Amino acid sequence: MEDLERASLAALWWQHIVSDGDAPLSAGEVVPQVLADSVEELSTGFDAEPFDAAVGERVGAALVAAGLVMAAAPTAAVHPLRRLAEARHDPQAQHRVSTMLSAVVRGHRDKAITVPSTIVRGDHPSHAVTERLLRVALDNAAVAVAIGDLDGTVRYANPALGELLGVPPDALHTVSVFDFTHPDDVDDANAAFLDGIGDRSGTARVECRMVRTDGRIRWASVAVTYVPGSDGHPDTFVAVAEDVTERRRLQDELHWQSRHDVLTGLANRRLLMERIANIGTSAGPDARIGLCFADIDHFKHINDRYGHAVGDEVLTAVAHRLQTSVVDDEHTIARIGGDEFVVLVTPPADDARVAEVADALLSSLTTPIVVGPHTLPVSLSIGVVIADASSRPATTLLDHADSALYRAKADGRDRWAFRGAGTDIGPSDLR
Ligand code: GH3
Ligand code: MG
Repeated sequence: MEDLERASLAALWWQHIVSDGDAPLSAGEVVPQVLADSVEELSTGFDAEPFDAAVGERVGAALVAAGLVMAAAPTAAVHPLRRLAEARHDPQAQHRVSTMLSAVVRGHRDKAITVPSTIVRGDHPSHAVTERLLRVALDNAAVAVAIGDLDGTVRYANPALGELLGVPPDALHTVSVFDFTHPDDVDDANAAFLDGIGDRSGTARVECRMVRTDGRIRWASVAVTYVPGSDGHPDTFVAVAEDVTERRRLQDELHWQSRHDVLTGLANRRLLMERIANIGTSAGPDARIGLCFADIDHFKHINDRYGHAVGDEVLTAVAHRLQTSVVDDEHTIARIGGDEFVVLVTPPADDARVAEVADALLSSLTTPIVVGPHTLPVSLSIGVVIADASSRPATTLLDHADSALYRAKADGRDRWAFRGAGTDIGPSDLR
């Protein structure tokens, strides 16, 4: 290729890089030589048989190495390539222009992404380099990123954020991040932001629910960093959010499993104890609770006669009967052992209220339980205790209810017995 032709195509290329690009550039010393060498290489590659697009990839990488990292550098190669094609008067040449151009863009992009250190010449990467790298990183990041004004208005959203919220990222520009925050979480999120970045520095972290446009809810772990403005640019926030819905679901499931009985779905001993302790700490000193400690009468006979599986069905049916007989949603119904159930009557619990609950529990089993072909009469004995919620540990209250239960069993079963402060009395004493 003639020197003159090579120089003129390199100049044409440069002219288009400058006019297509978005930043003022100066060619410096390296660039004209790199463009001229690239034109030579493209020209040789153009005529090679078989046609070799790898040349284009090498040229793209060379552009990056020379500091021509802006997107316009490889795409402007279309101009010298077209001239090369025109000079060949070959119907195949047009096709080669587009194949070669794609290779140049590919080589450029791959180099810019994978070897950033080689494109940052000196200690101060140019604005264009930084912006292009950041853009590539943000567009491909798995985490959601939003950049915006301090009032929450989004100025930039990456594709991962669009995916999290179920909208194209461009549709998020100028909306507020709070538009997608679950209404019940807005106050907490605001408080966390105030706490973390209220002094105009640092990072605030919060886990909150986001409502997608399709109505589905996603949990997001969000870190919001305050970025002070400079050179006339206003202060901004940068929010990085990770979708933690699956982790939250597993946590909730584990939490539920550790506090519920698998067979019946009722609360287990742990949850019952927590609820009693919570009432003890949160209710006033005079708040009274009631416990009805129920145990199935002669349950072993059912197991022995009909088998464990039928026994399990009876336990499930009893749990259901107890649930339907306790009308107050505030009360907790727990299965704390084999055939042992406890109903926690929340404050204010007085003799009449707790007796009513105990009677309802007994009445719920007046009709036999039917399991397959078996019709099984089932009854309960119940120990009842009423006490100041904060006066004794939950275990002591349960022990007191257990001793009243012992009385009910000893007195003939299918009844409840009351354990008062010091004395044990039965239902007839209360009526
Ligand atoms: P009592 O009237 O004195 O309470 O007599 P009981 O036969 O009910 O005796 P107790 O309450 O001590 O026995 C409870 C039985 O419950 C003992 C155990 O074999 C059985 N059991 C414990 N857990 C399960 C379970 O998950 N499924 C079944 N089917 N049986 C269980
Ligand atoms: Mg029993």
